[in-house]
Amino acid sequence: MSDELWQDKPLVLPWLKGRWDYLLELKTQNRFPHALLINGPEGIGKACFAMALANYVLCRSPQGNTACGHCRSCELTRSGGHPDLYLLKPDDPGKPIKIDQVRELTTFIYSTAQQGGYRVVIIDPADSMNINAANALLKMLEEPGEQTLIMLLTHRLGQMLPTIKSRCQRVDMPPADVALATQWVSTQLQVESAEAAQLLVIAHHSPLQALAYKQDDLLGLRAKVLKGLADILKSRRSAVDVAQSLYKEDLELLLGWLYSWIVDIARSAENQADPEILRHTDARNMLLALARKVNHQKLYCFADQVQVARKELMLRHNLNKQLLMEKLLSEWYSLAR
Ligand SMILES: [Zn+2]
Repeated sequence: MSDELWQDKPLVLPWLKGRWDYLLELKTQNRFPHALLINGPEGIGKACFAMALANYVLCRSPQGNTACGHCRSCELTRSGGHPDLYLLKPDDPGKPIKIDQVRELTTFIYSTAQQGGYRVVIIDPADSMNINAANALLKMLEEPGEQTLIMLLTHRLGQMLPTIKSRCQRVDMPPADVALATQWVSTQLQVESAEAAQLLVIAHHSPLQALAYKQDDLLGLRAKVLKGLADILKSRRSAVDVAQSLYKEDLELLLGWLYSWIVDIARSAENQADPEILRHTDARNMLLALARKVNHQKLYCFADQVQVARKELMLRHNLNKQLLMEKLLSEWYSLAR
């Protein structure tokens, strides 16, 4: 987890405060669930929220609604070595959580807490459990034992087994509030709020993604892609040439951008009287120019091709990425013709 989300303890991001207060109120009323299904969009701070909640229930002297940040338990959480906190993740990002990993969890769940309080499990992302792993977890969700908290995190609720869902209390996390998120990103990155707002649009309103964009200089990459697209339209460079310069980049990300620009062109083509309709102001001139002359049929067809390509990339077929980009960029060239 990135350091920005910790001070002396994991932070509950401002737009999630309402959910935090709600859960702590349940705790005060002794109605705290033993299993939570924390559901919400990517990049809004769910993992840190879960870690903060773990930290809170494990803390020996909570101060009101937050962990103290100083006790032995808080120190252990901060060091990543708390014996009563178990993080279950795929061995490799993007891979499934396997049954053997869930079986290892059994030993933890049914042993006594070493620090004499709660035992907490965080499963992230819970939708990556394969069916055997999910079934192995069911029993633990039914009889977790005293003072146990199991948190399952997901941004793909539809992929969770109904039997798992029905055994957890679901907590739906709201998308990040625009004003709060803009202010937060602006403070974190020490940039003007206009730049923070722009980053948030590009990051599909995911504040954590917005931070990553700035830190990885994805704005630089984006400018390079936009320049390539403009060069193709103006016949300054060939589609093959631009594909050559881009195919080694993160194509899932690039095609996500491309798709959102197509959506902008379509919106703008249908509402030519309203230039303010564009969401992606960094690509404004090119998108507006294209919107004026594009053939709608061609545009929708191209949008479909981009979606198919994104799906193929995600399924990790043995793709020839260079060829894929050449094809798409050639289509892009023909859009304005
Ligand atoms: Zn503490």
